[in-house]
Order: sequence, then structure tokens, then C-alpha cells
Amino acid sequence: MKKKIIILGSTGSIGKSLIKIIKKDKNNFEILLLTTNSNYKELLKQVNFFKVKNLIITNKKSFIITQKILENKKINIYNDFNSLDVILNKKKADYVMSSISGFAGLNPTLKIIKFSKKIAIANKESIICGWKLIKNELKRYKTKFIPVDSEHFSIWSLIGNSKNINIEKVFITASGGPFKNLNLNKFSSILPSDALKHPKWSMGKKISIDSATMMNKVFEIIEAKKIFNLNYSQLKILIHPHSYVHAILKFTNGLTKILTHDTDMKFPIFNSIYSKHERIIKSNKLNLSILNNLNFSTVDYKRFPAVRLIEQLPINDSLFETVLVSANDALVDLFLKRKIKFIDISKQLLELAKKKEFLKYKSKSPRNINEINKLVEYVNSKVYSINLQKSI
Ligand code: NAD
Ligand code: MG
Repeated sequence: MKKKIIILGSTGSIGKSLIKIIKKDKNNFEILLLTTNSNYKELLKQVNFFKVKNLIITNKKSFIITQKILENKKINIYNDFNSLDVILNKKKADYVMSSISGFAGLNPTLKIIKFSKKIAIANKESIICGWKLIKNELKRYKTKFIPVDSEHFSIWSLIGNSKNINIEKVFITASGGPFKNLNLNKFSSILPSDALKHPKWSMGKKISIDSATMMNKVFEIIEAKKIFNLNYSQLKILIHPHSYVHAILKFTNGLTKILTHDTDMKFPIFNSIYSKHERIIKSNKLNLSILNNLNFSTVDYKRFPAVRLIEQLPINDSLFETVLVSANDALVDLFLKRKIKFIDISKQLLELAKKKEFLKYKSKSPRNINEINKLVEYVNSKVYSINLQKSI
């Protein structure tokens, strides 16, 4: 029987990587739904190849253009995620990939859970801001969950089926990004084009900037804490320039497990969809020269000051995490538009995290998506209003 799948954000870096994997196994898949924001050209290629019958295109202009292009075809095109009941009509997909970028991913992720037996989530924002809500939906609809972010996929794989997970410590790795060795006095003149050049991973724009400031690791620590129900004191970042090892788990029984794979998201993605080892994937030979030279080190806070934010995170799930993610979102956007400097991203995040009006969210637990969305809007407008008058 064909595997029925859905890809939220099929035109992005993760979405395309998944499409590439399943193209080789086309006859075993039926795609129930694909979604994009505006990249209808890429979407149309996917639609033609897989004969997809349902599309969601959230950008109005792209939605209208696609409607015209597909006028005479029997393909349903929707403009938002309110039509999932109609599209899926009580059908359950075998697998959903949630790979929309940013906050826009939270609502679709929450809504799609009831329509899937298994959901692979790449979208960090959903997990960081809405994990409590996601967990409830997973339980309610008995949907299995696989994290796709490489570090979390590694932790998840290392835990395996063991019921009693006695984790002492989890180390997640960071390549150090493009500025690992940059002279500190050059940081104030970093341009978006410099920050987008990641030495190891090929990713979307936003996450590439987050890797350069290392906010990406702050987010990954929060993700890991939530997904695996750990304390922040059990989580540590290790700089590992080769990005060959993705996670190290030290268990309370004295064993330590390390997971490595080639530096490509196709490995976690492949394993999330073929979780029963039903197919094989080509990979490089075990790289002994890297293994003999793993070269781990701790984070240099002078270079990556945003990592200090981890020390300020509250013990319980709170709305403060949403404050950080949304402030960072706005700051990255401002940096990409050259309204602020690269160093302002971390500087302003550290300042915002100390403000009384945001500190209060540390003791507030997210109750629903509206509350999260409202806070995102508020923090965004606050950050833009502080910065938009400025120019660099
Ligand atoms: P991307 O920017 O390449 O693609 C994003 C996808 O989401 C596109 O299909 C786009 O059309 C869609 N999208 C964007 N805004 C939207 C909106 N407002 N409404 C509906 N759809 C929208 O992003 P990516 O690099 O593929 O990352 C996707 C997610 O996975 C992010 O949350 C990222 O943090 C996470 N992630 C990515 C990587 C990676 O290597 N790329 C690794 C780990 C985690
Ligand atoms: Mg990662």
C-alpha cells in the first residue's frame, strides 16, 4: 500500500530535501497535500511529478496565479489552513513533515496532528513556543512524533526504544558557524552576505543567521529540554567544527553513546520517513580522519554572547521562550534588511530579556495558540518600533 503523506512547507530547504528522497521511490507514495507560502513555481514541479490533488498557498498573489495556471485541472487550491477538514475528510496520513519556517508553522502543525499517524517536526518555533499544546494533540490523537532537527533526531535515535531513559547529560554540537575564527573587532562590520555563508550546512536564510549568532543553539537547547523532558543543567553545547557528531548522550548507567552522520539534513529526514529500515540511503564511508580529530570545545561567550540567554531560561514551559523567539525573528529580519548590525541581534536580545515587561512571561505558561500569537505580534512590533527609525 502506498504511504500517504503531507508536506507543510514543501518548497523550503527541508521540504525539497524530503521530496528528493521520495522521488526515488515515487510509486510507494501518495501525497495528499503540499503547501507553500509563495513559491508556486517549485510547488507546481512537485505537483506535476507526484500528481498532487490538494494544495495550500498562503500568499494571496501566488494563490491567484496558481489558480489561473491550474484552471482546467482537477486540483483543489486553498489559501489557508482552515480547510483541512474538507481536504482530508477524516482521512489520516501515514506521515506529515512540518517544515514551514517561523511562527507561521505553529498553527498548521497543531491543526494537522489529528490527520496523521506520525508527524516529523522540523519547525523549531512550534516546539519552542507550542510544545505543551503539541504534546496534548499528540496524546489526544495518538500521533507519533519524530524530531527532525539533526541534534534532536540524534538524541531521539540514541534513546531508541529504551523505556527507562536515565540520561545524565546531553551534549549537542554546533559547528561554530561562519565566524568561529573571525577576529572579534571585525564583528561590527559583518554583512548579511557574510552571515549567510554557513561553512557546513546548507539551510534557509533565517536559520543560517541564527547559526551565525548561535541563537540556533539556544533554541535547540530549549527544544531538547522540552522534547526529552530534561533540565537545562543536563544540556550542554559543544563546538565541533566538522559537524560530524550531532549529539552525545551520557546515561546514568555509565554508558555514553555518540551519533554521527554526514553533514546533510537528508539523513534525519530519510530516517524519519523510513523508520523501519525499509530502504537504504547512500552515505560516505566512515570518516576516520574526522573521527581522529573530533576537536570539541566549549562556547566562547565573547564571540557568541546570545548563548548566555540559556542561563536566564525559566525551569518550566513559559511564554518567555516565545518572547525570545519573536524578538530574534524581528531582529534577524532587521539585520537582513540592513537596519541593524549583526552584533545588535545578540546585544538587543540580552537587553530585552532583562526588561520587566518581558520578565513577567517567565511565570506564564502558554495556554493556547491565540495567546502565543498575540505575544509574538506584541514583541515584534516592539522590536521594530525600537529599530525602524535607526539606520546603519
Ligand atoms: P525555508 O525558508 O527554506 O522554507 C520554509 C518553507 O515554509 C517554504 O516552503 C515556505 O513557502 C514556507 N513558508 C514560509 N513562510 C510561510 C508562511 N507564512 N505561511 C506558510 N508557509 C510558509 O526553511 P527551512 O530551512 O526548510 O526550515 C524549515 C524549518 O525547519 C524551520 O523552522 C527551521 O528552523 C527548521 N530546520 C531547518 C533545518 C535546515 O537545515 N534547513 C535544520 C533544522 C531545522
Ligand atoms: Mg540543528
